[in-house]
Amino acid sequence: MYIVRPKKKFGQHFLKNKTIANRISKGIDTAVCPRVLEIGPGMGILTSELLQQNIQLKVIEIDRESVQYLKEKALIPEENIIEGDFLHTNITDIFNEQEFSIIGNFPYNISSQIVFKAIENRTFVPQLSGMFQREMARRICSPKGSKEYGIISVLTQAFYDTTYNFTVHEQEFNPPPKVKSGVITLTRKANHTLPCNEKLFFTVVKTAFNQRRKTLDNSLKKLLIGNKLDKKFGTLRPEQLSVLDFIEITNYVNKKQKGGSHAI
Ligand code: SAH
Repeated sequence: MYIVRPKKKFGQHFLKNKTIANRISKGIDTAVCPRVLEIGPGMGILTSELLQQNIQLKVIEIDRESVQYLKEKALIPEENIIEGDFLHTNITDIFNEQEFSIIGNFPYNISSQIVFKAIENRTFVPQLSGMFQREMARRICSPKGSKEYGIISVLTQAFYDTTYNFTVHEQEFNPPPKVKSGVITLTRKANHTLPCNEKLFFTVVKTAFNQRRKTLDNSLKKLLIGNKLDKKFGTLRPEQLSVLDFIEITNYVNKKQKGGSHAI
């Protein structure tokens, strides 16, 4: 049987190792949700492993040649193959407004956008597991205080528990990528609403990390409109703050912006 020619523009690196595909497929817990969407099945190596589990599987693939291949191979019923761009697909269209988990050996060029889309639509996404560039995988899972802790860590960890599962080497792919890969699992927290204005929370986190070497009193100056943070935060840098700290700061900024005068 022919194989799909890997295309750079779609971030295609096809996994060669079935054992690794099997390990990736175990990243989602079917008890959390029986419906699963695989993003970017390519030639279906991970799809085959997922089909061994008792789940309702759909796949979404942007590359027409891969879609053609999957259809000819008849690995998965045609009605469960969506040809399209995940980033431009309505989450509620995929499983008829029901929630579903996401899995994939993600195209690296859009992997952070996949996570942000999941976060935005978290009421529909109880779990997400898959392969990222190792650096990105680490960043998403890293705890406060580490060098890798940044915007995507805080925004993900505000809503999901994160686990780094394992590393995959370059030679396991065709063509091999330039960097190692990491497989992670995000599991939605029982309470995934924040006790603060969420839009402002996103703004505070992004603003603080965009000038990560400044203290918070400096980086958040504009948002604070002339006020200073409480002593315990003002002289810190963003990587020293937990999700809860960012929530507290968001509520403080919110009060100041509304003209209130309460300290934290
Ligand atoms: N899962 C396969 C392929 C991984 S490569 C394997 O492990 O071998 C990433 C896959 O994502 C490719 O098949 C690529 O065509 C697909 N892809 C890239 N961008 C996409 C998008 N926006 N929406 C859906 N699929 C996409």
